[in-house]
Formats: sequence, C-alpha cells, structure tokens
Amino acid sequence: MYDLHTHTQFSDGSSLESMVTAAADAGCTGIGLADHCILVDDDFSRRERYDLAETYERRRERIDDARDRFDLRLFDAVELSYVRGTDDQIGAFLEEAAFDYSIGAVHFAEAYDYATGAPYAECPPADRREAVDTYYETVIELIESELFDIAAHLDLPERHPQLRGVTTAAHYEALAAALADSRTKPEINAGRVFRSLGRVHPNPELLDVFVDREIEFVLGSDSHTPDEIGRRVPFLEQFVETNQAVTVDAPAFLETTTELRS
Ligand SMILES: [Zn+2]
Ligand SMILES: [Zn+2]
Repeated sequence: MYDLHTHTQFSDGSSLESMVTAAADAGCTGIGLADHCILVDDDFSRRERYDLAETYERRRERIDDARDRFDLRLFDAVELSYVRGTDDQIGAFLEEAAFDYSIGAVHFAEAYDYATGAPYAECPPADRREAVDTYYETVIELIESELFDIAAHLDLPERHPQLRGVTTAAHYEALAAALADSRTKPEINAGRVFRSLGRVHPNPELLDVFVDREIEFVLGSDSHTPDEIGRRVPFLEQFVETNQAVTVDAPAFLETTTELRS
C-alpha cells in the first residue's frame, strides 16, 4: 500500500530515513512525507515549528537522495493547515513549491484549536457545538477551495474527549456532498487507532455516507515515529480488507506527478 500521510524531522516527526525504512519494512510500496506547514501566524504559535515553507527545498534534497537508496516510491508532500481567507496565499505557495501532492487540514479555526483539544471542558454545550460546527464549515471551505489533493482526518474534533459525540450524521452528510463535487479525496487516517479515539478518521460506522456517493479514499497512517508506521500500516491493510465497500486507490494525481519527477 501507499501510506500517504507521515511526518519527518522537518515538522514534528522522526528522521526522514527512519520513516522510509519503517515503511519499507512494513511492506509499503510508497510513502508520502507530508510535513506540517503553516503559512500564516495563528493564535496557537505553531507557525514557527511548522516552517516547511522555509525548509521544503532542503527536505527535497534529502528525499531525492533517499530515492536512490530505497526501492519504494517516495512522495514529496505537505500537510498544510487551511486557514479561511488565505486561499490566494495557499494557492501561490503550493504552485511555487510544486509538491507531488498536498494534504489540506483544519487544525484550528477562529478561536478554536482542534489539534490540542484546547480547554473545551469549561465550555458550555452550546459553545462546543459552535466549535464543532465551525470546524466542519471550515473543512467544507477547504474542500470547495479545490486547493488540495487530499483532505486530512475528516472528523478531527472527535479525537478530543470533550468534543466527542458532538459531530452529527448531518456533518458527515455535508462533508460527503462537498467531496462528491470536488477533486479532493478524503483519507482513512490511522493517527488515533491505538490511543484516545481508538478508531480511524472518519468514523467507520458512517462510511456508508461516503460509499453511497462513490467517494474514493486514500490511506494515511499519520505516523510521527517508525514504530507507529510498523503498527498502523498493518492496521490499515486489515481495515481495507474488512471494509470491501470502501474504495481505496492510488489516486491518479500520483501517477502524473511521479512521472514528471522520475
Ligand atoms: Zn493533521
Ligand atoms: Zn499529520
């Protein structure tokens, strides 16, 4: 399989070579190195840590060098935090950087931080609904922007105990409707299968909503360490095996980008 969502030392992951080695050992035929990237300052001070916009050329040299030493395909990718109102900036950066593909992710929106969980425990239920509604509205804007090849971890707020269960079937329906009209593909994301959430994103119980609209998925372990790849890749392979109705394919965008680069 292709694991299209992993992180290296160029954001918050492990050494690039150790991640590629782990993917090869897990039997992957391709790995996507999709480091975090934030273009604009956010309220949560992640911009400095996630500075791939400044380091992607250095990382590209490392990837090119590793390509000579490994049999599997290495994809030079990005997980870019989508921020409302910055479509032009994101579009210009993606065009200039010319990654093999791009993953768009909503990690924060307005005053809400979905990546760390923020102090939602003190929020009254109405505010939690507002936080979750804002999340899905922003993801739908991400999909409709047509800027990205892949939309990351669709139901991210479910990761946090304080926001879990606030997502409704209507949210999934709205995501599926937007994806059906877009080039952007969702991922089956294994980032929390062995801790907290204990399942993939999006909720496997609601996958029919996407299957009914013939939406294709890609696979991403969202690993930050080699050990995570070793555990999550077999999990994803098993998941695909037991969920035959879910279409998972090596997307067409990978065929063209890699032909151009090889
Ligand atoms: Zn993410
Ligand atoms: Zn990630």
